[in-house]
Amino acid sequence: MPTDPSADQARAAIQAALGQIGFALPGTITIRRARCGKPRCACAADPPALHGPYIQWTRTVHGKTVTRLLTPAQYQAYAPWFASARRLRELAAELEALSLAEMARAEGWAKITPGTPAPPRTRPVRGPNPNYPEPPETPGDQPA
Ligand SMILES: [Zn+2]
Repeated sequence: MPTDPSADQARAAIQAALGQIGFALPGTITIRRARCGKPRCACAADPPALHGPYIQWTRTVHGKTVTRLLTPAQYQAYAPWFASARRLRELAAELEALSLAEMARAEGWAKITPGTPAPPRTRPVRGPNPNYPEPPETPGDQPA
């Protein structure tokens, strides 16, 4: 079937952006300060002087949550790798939404429901793509 030229253009743009992705680390970073629990420690004083900051890297390995502490230097060095993974997830969601819209257009379906919502954007990387619409808010598929 012939592909819609604007959809093909949007696909090419996503492909080009995917080609720019470097190393990509999974998981999330949480920075926290903590109390140790010792009653005479400064962290128990009022006002408390908390320990940390602790830079926690949390990810899932074979269904289990794995946490590792990063040094500030490690966090600085690998922050772009975490950003790359976020960008990769955004682009994958964009490509899937585009593919769903293109399939619906090619098949003459009025609407199609995306199976997986796009991950929340943590930072704007570029403006919205005017070449194709966002996935619909409400399901449009007919029940089986
Ligand atoms: Zn303490």
